[in-house]
Amino acid sequence: MNTTAISVISAICIIMYIAASIFFILGIKKLGKANTARKGNLLSSVGMGIAVLAVFIEGISYMILTGNFGRNIGLFFLSFGIPFVAIIIGGIIGFLWAKKVEMTGMPELVALFNGFGGLASLLVALSQFSAGKAVTNDAFAAITLGLTIAIGAIAFTGSIVAWGKLSGKKMFKKNVPVPNFVNGILCGVGLLGIIFYACGYSSSSRGAAGAGVLGVIGVILTVIVFLVLGVTLVIKIGGGDMPVIISFLNALSGLAAAFAGFPIRNTVLIVSGCLVGASGLILTLIMCKAMNRKFFDLLFKSFGAKKSTAAAGEQKEPKAMSIEDAFLILEAAKNVVIIPGYGMAVAQAQHAVKELCDVLEENGCEVNFAIHPVAGRMPGHMNVLLAEANVPYEQLKTSDDINPQMSNVDVAIVIGANDVVNPAAINDESSPLYGMPIVNAYEARTVFVLKRGKGTGFSGIENPLFTNENTVMIYGDAKQTVSQLVVEFEN
Ligand code: NDP
Repeated sequence: MNTTAISVISAICIIMYIAASIFFILGIKKLGKANTARKGNLLSSVGMGIAVLAVFIEGISYMILTGNFGRNIGLFFLSFGIPFVAIIIGGIIGFLWAKKVEMTGMPELVALFNGFGGLASLLVALSQFSAGKAVTNDAFAAITLGLTIAIGAIAFTGSIVAWGKLSGKKMFKKNVPVPNFVNGILCGVGLLGIIFYACGYSSSSRGAAGAGVLGVIGVILTVIVFLVLGVTLVIKIGGGDMPVIISFLNALSGLAAAFAGFPIRNTVLIVSGCLVGASGLILTLIMCKAMNRKFFDLLFKSFGAKKSTAAAGEQKEPKAMSIEDAFLILEAAKNVVIIPGYGMAVAQAQHAVKELCDVLEENGCEVNFAIHPVAGRMPGHMNVLLAEANVPYEQLKTSDDINPQMSNVDVAIVIGANDVVNPAAINDESSPLYGMPIVNAYEARTVFVLKRGKGTGFSGIENPLFTNENTVMIYGDAKQTVSQLVVEFEN
């Protein structure tokens, strides 16, 4: 065995791992701003490419230099041929899928990819268990493998449920109120599984493969229980908590990858997993703060439904208005707040909205945008779309900034938003949205609501804003409606 050559190759691979980590860190930094996000994505992908290459170089050269390549070609194919073919097939599927998906389908796709990340870590842990490759008699390796299985399983099934909810799949639409004690019991049983597994593992002299009956029972229990826990934790969540749980699941998939890095001794997996885990957790906490939620409440206490007493009163009909009449009101307005929501993304109306903003300003009107933290279907969804349409960043205000001034606003234009302007979140304790902060559009002198018909928002509940005295509906696709308003100004 050529030890010098092996040391040189190891050193080269360590340098490659460091380079990959630097690319990841720079990538995450650039992802923080809309105008550098594309570059950030590219840098992170290059980092991942370098990491994968380093794994192959390290493994293949070790096999060649130890003389195992000539002796066992079958093992070589198993170790490197199959992963290589899998990377090619997976890469092609991922590329075509990401190319084909509509912008509005992006959040579902991201949720699904996130779930696959959790599944990958889970499979790495199981393969280590069945191959018995990890360090013999090592309780630390056993516990990290157990945690990889647990967190990876929750991230996997939780993300599948999140994907189902985001894509409006029938079986996931209803928020099933799983009691906390059920989740508590599941968590306890799962942890017991990890303990069984760790005890069986560390008492075995033959590593994970010889973990004994206790270890095998432990691992099966851990996998099943945490797969179920992923479903029961996320199935009860809906409305305003959905975006927060998605970023939490993202953090979990990163943590699972980081834990998976310990038993297989892959530093770059630990680094990249920690980066994803830490940034996901930071985003989760930021979103909790923006939504006035405690992190604990996210998992154990749903929004709203404190009383179930709401008497179904007389149903009022929303008032509709024509484009021409709406134009006359807008022409006289001195200040306007635009509140975009998911419907703006569906209609791809952001460029038309920017044109409307320009003609209003030319007419001497002050225009601001009120961006709710969970408007759309992914964090920063509205900011990205409006940045694409070159809306100046200074015009984008948070709901906290805008709300105190809302009663002085002449016209609030709600463009494809629904849940984020639903006053039931403030004044109806029976509403599932109760307690969620909203943009107080209802306080403006006049409210225009641009939507296609009577469709509800993501939470599936009615919006009393639409029947308020000061609200008028302008029905139609948001892009067409906004473009027609622009034409009125230009005529
Ligand atoms: P909503 O989903 O509440 O409402 C969107 C509205 O847009 C619908 O009422 C729909 O009505 C209308 N609409 C759809 N297509 C068009 C179109 N082409 N033109 C005009 N209107 C259209 O959106 P919000 O942004 O107000 O709220 C976001 C919701 O999504 C929140 O409940 C949030 O918790 C949830 N969520 C957010 C995530 C995030 O990260 N931001 C992630 C997961 C969930 P109609 O059909 O009548 O046109």
